[in-house]
Amino acid sequence: MAGDRFPVKPSSLRTYIYCPRLYFFEVHLGRRRGLAEVFRLALGRLFHLALGILDYLRGRRVEEKVEVEVGGFLFVGRPDAWRVEDGTLIVTERKTSRAPRSGAWLSDAAQAAAYAFMLLRSKARGARGAEIEVSYARGGSRRLRLSEDLVDIVLRAAGEMRLVREGVVPYPNRSPGKCGVCPFREACESLDRELAAPGGGEVFEPGSWLAGLDPVARGG
Ligand code: SF4
Repeated sequence: MAGDRFPVKPSSLRTYIYCPRLYFFEVHLGRRRGLAEVFRLALGRLFHLALGILDYLRGRRVEEKVEVEVGGFLFVGRPDAWRVEDGTLIVTERKTSRAPRSGAWLSDAAQAAAYAFMLLRSKARGARGAEIEVSYARGGSRRLRLSEDLVDIVLRAAGEMRLVREGVVPYPNRSPGKCGVCPFREACESLDRELAAPGGGEVFEPGSWLAGLDPVARGG
């Protein structure tokens, strides 16, 4: 049990980086999945299963549970695969989506970085450094060093996720691509209208710092 430690799943942290407002809705209204998403998730599961078997045969650690307490947080999750090579921890995160032209999507890189952060404090304590490898079904693999910037993003997001769970409304990280397929689009627009009404708005918006970041992580 997490007790009074705030549980942080790297997959939820990925959602927060993708769009903090979407994380808010998923926490307070529950996840909504259309048929297309259910189908995509089933395909994704098959994709992970097939590649997970290959990873296992190559001697990698596959989908093992990792649980780490840091400060008031309990990070818990199952990295797709990881290994230590020549003293370097390498964490693989698989995505069925399309890769950006270069680097990895920041939300995907942050998820993999969270796993690397957890493993360096638990099962891979002896590693001297860490790299993350985001492997896209469309576009190939992208490998990045686990930088201090990525770890800062993970910890900052984790702290804000706690506030959002308590009810603080966060920043809507809009883009036509994201909002066009978002199941909470109407609720989000209606919330914006309420917040814009006189006396309706929170001044502090967790996640607004994401607007100043490149949505693609390119190196480390
Ligand atoms: S509509 Fe757009 S901004 Fe609002 S929650 Fe969905 S993705 Fe985020």
